[in-house]
Amino acid sequence: MPRLDGKYDYIVVGNSAAGVNAAEALRSFDRNGSLAIFGEEDLPVYSRPMISNLVAGEADLQKMRYRKKNFYNVNKIDFFRGVRITKLNAKSRAVVTAEGQSYAWRKLLLATGSLPFRPPIAGLEEVPYHTFVNYQDAQRLIKATKAPGTRALIIGAGLIGVKAAEALYARGAKVTIVEMMERMLPAALDEEASRMVQAICENKGLHVITGECVEQVISDDGGKNTRGGTARLRNGEEIGFDLLVVAVGVVPRMELAQQAGLAINRGVLVDQYLRTSQEDIYAAGDVAEAFDLVWGEPRVNALWPNATLQGRYAGWNMAGGKRKYPGSQSMNSVEFFGLPVLSAGIVNPPDDSYEVLTSRMAGGGYRKVVLRDDVLVGMLVAGEVEKAGILTSLIQEKAKVRRFKQSLLTDSFGHIYLPKAVRQARVQEGQAGILSLVEK
Ligand SMILES: Cc1cc2nc3c(=O)[nH]c(=O)nc-3n(C[C@H](O)[C@H](O)[C@H](O)COP(=O)(O)OP(=O)(O)OC[C@H]3O[C@@H](n4cnc5c(N)ncnc54)[C@H](O)[C@@H]3O)c2cc1C
Repeated sequence: MPRLDGKYDYIVVGNSAAGVNAAEALRSFDRNGSLAIFGEEDLPVYSRPMISNLVAGEADLQKMRYRKKNFYNVNKIDFFRGVRITKLNAKSRAVVTAEGQSYAWRKLLLATGSLPFRPPIAGLEEVPYHTFVNYQDAQRLIKATKAPGTRALIIGAGLIGVKAAEALYARGAKVTIVEMMERMLPAALDEEASRMVQAICENKGLHVITGECVEQVISDDGGKNTRGGTARLRNGEEIGFDLLVVAVGVVPRMELAQQAGLAINRGVLVDQYLRTSQEDIYAAGDVAEAFDLVWGEPRVNALWPNATLQGRYAGWNMAGGKRKYPGSQSMNSVEFFGLPVLSAGIVNPPDDSYEVLTSRMAGGGYRKVVLRDDVLVGMLVAGEVEKAGILTSLIQEKAKVRRFKQSLLTDSFGHIYLPKAVRQARVQEGQAGILSLVEK
């Protein structure tokens, strides 16, 4: 039941990784302050990365649940399910819903995530193209692939595009992916790991085109928006499709921040307490541009573990906890067609001031570490990821690894290789690093 006076101590806009973790953290400091979460999607909080499992038929909403059914009750949260906030007024400290209801806040969190980027492709508005970022998108794709052998064209071979490809393949679609860069997953992986993923895709029968872009799409029914069409590539090649998925990246969803006059760059700028430029307004997750541990500067890191961690720090700080956010890092643990890949920090160093060590494991796996001034700043493990989590925590701890850097590449690498002092410190800290990022 919403509060009758419409006034809340805390309002969270966005019911996903950042918003929910913020609410929980906030409650660990303040059991009784009034708290509302607004979520535009008419669903309880779910794991967004699992929408590919949903399309593939491996999961349902029940399996995708990120918190128990009673989460909102237990945490005394007024959950405004399926309600979009359309206005934010920083001066009068109010938000307004799409239906025109106004709610006041003492502290506000923007956890609005990101939106799919729409590329400037001629004719795109005339084809009923799909995006792949939420539950509704997944449901639409399930419907659109009822007939076996649907010709699916995916524009973009980043994380979301490849996950869409995997899901559509599982539904029996004939999948083609077109990627503008020279290789798949160019931001998350290096050349060798991209090659491994591409080989798996091609072995499964997917058609992968890299270093090419779709310049134009032509609707089959003259723009009546009911059927597929043809995509024309820069090299003149034409690809017919029944289903088009556009997955060329996401951008922080900043319309409320802009309305409220918050300082923004690529995302909403936040300080070390996740505070925006306006008093009592915080931002966390994909929408925020927060300090990046490895790069040493603010960055948007649109990844689930970062959203959860930022959410927690924002929640603590909103409730008066005063905890400094340790910093994000681009960390990912994901599987592509059964190939597990773990990466963190700087995977593709921008210049040769970095030291790069790589190795091929006996079982066909691949491991890479990136060092700068003897400090581990990046890693990538594909295929055999056991024990690789320890590398992620070494990055977080900014550990000097000069004396045992070669051991980082061995498949038997574990705590035992660390110098005694480092091991002892890690035991004392209860491995605060990677373990603090693992979901409950
Ligand atoms: C297909 C896919 C696969 C992914 N795989 C991985 C992966 O393997 N690993 C990984 O680390 N990350 C992955 N990600 C990224 C990860 O899901 C995001 O980083 C994470 O969801 C960000 O969480 P968030 O809380 O910041 O925002 P979001 O999860 O985007 O949630 C924001 C929520 O706010 C709501 N909202 C926005 N504006 C308003 C408003 N005005 N009023 C009310 N509600 C509003 C939105 O509807 C949405 O529900 C994947 C993403 C996708 C789409």
